[in-house]
Amino acid sequence: MTIKVGIIGGGQLGRMLALSGAPLGMQFTFLDPGEAPCATVAGRHIRAAFDDLPALEALCDENDVVTFEFENISAEALDTLSARELYPPVAALRAAQERKHEKQLFESVGIPVAPWRAINSQADLDQAVADLGLPLIAKTRTLGYDGKGQTRLQQADEATDLFTQMGSVPLLVERLVSFDSELSIIGTRARDGDVVIYPLTRNWHRDGILHRSECTDPGNTLRRQAHRHFQALTEALDYVGTLALECFVCDSLLLGNEFAPRVHNSGHWTQNGTLCSQFENHLRAVTGLPLGHSLHARPAGMLNLIGQLPDQTHVLRQPDCYWHGYDKTGRPGRKIGHINVVSSDQKRVAERLDTLERELGLSR
Ligand code: ATP
Ligand code: MG
Repeated sequence: MTIKVGIIGGGQLGRMLALSGAPLGMQFTFLDPGEAPCATVAGRHIRAAFDDLPALEALCDENDVVTFEFENISAEALDTLSARELYPPVAALRAAQERKHEKQLFESVGIPVAPWRAINSQADLDQAVADLGLPLIAKTRTLGYDGKGQTRLQQADEATDLFTQMGSVPLLVERLVSFDSELSIIGTRARDGDVVIYPLTRNWHRDGILHRSECTDPGNTLRRQAHRHFQALTEALDYVGTLALECFVCDSLLLGNEFAPRVHNSGHWTQNGTLCSQFENHLRAVTGLPLGHSLHARPAGMLNLIGQLPDQTHVLRQPDCYWHGYDKTGRPGRKIGHINVVSSDQKRVAERLDTLERELGLSR
């Protein structure tokens, strides 16, 4: 039986969703304003703006279920389609789109966060510096990604006029956490509440952009917190689909940073490190199929390819490396592919990623 899935957004996440859904008998249509977005090799394309209501209605009419692969879409527009099968829930999208709502949601479900303040004026900002102390990080409350719309404050004079400098838009400031590491918790919740959580992922960023991920076992204490946080957040949202919760590890405490109501870059290793990836489980969840629990997770890691592609032939010669290109034009700061590495143990994965970074000229 063919299951028709509509996806709002036609970028690499949509492309990888469709590539993983085809063997399950799914067919895909992407709504995206771009001329030839990279997902459309794997499905039909409705070329329209993300808030084009007739186009969204058409996407719903033509498909059994609709999902989204990125977050800067109008929750109001989606709300008008609420009678349809649309997952993850719009409430999750709305919370993830606004950092104040997101922090409040974390606190309401018992996920600890760095001390923070919502800022609507320079006076609020000055008060926050007085209340929280330095160093701080100021973030625009909406539309941030890859570290964009963020300013770090080390000294009091850097706060002078910062509200104007950041565009006089609502901000959130929070304590700059001196974390031991960054972890993401990736899992999937089905329509009936069944949950699969992948092994945890450790992440390294460069210039605010995810550079490298490795699956990791941080021990029982952190794993228990991670599972509790994932369960609490997804239950509160009555969530359906794959979700990523990004956290800071501080001693033996996990602090919630932000979440993505979708498949996530730090979960790409699951394509080759497990038997049922974050993409396949997302599709199983939103279409009402049983989740894949037999992950058989193997030690794995991922390097993002940003700006330009390295020597593909060299990578393909390595028996433990998997190439994933997105068919996107290279430009500085743009994610255009990734390489997954799978090995017998996690130490070996880290060594292989180090070697690859050197050989491909990705080291710093
Ligand atoms: P993403 O690409 O994940 O959507 P983003 O631009 O939405 O990123 P964040 O994830 O909040 O923003 O921040 C990007 C990175 O900046 C974090 O992964 C972390 O390395 C650093 N960072 C953010 N907030 C803090 C903090 N309070 N303390 C220390 N580092 C932080
Ligand atoms: Mg982030």
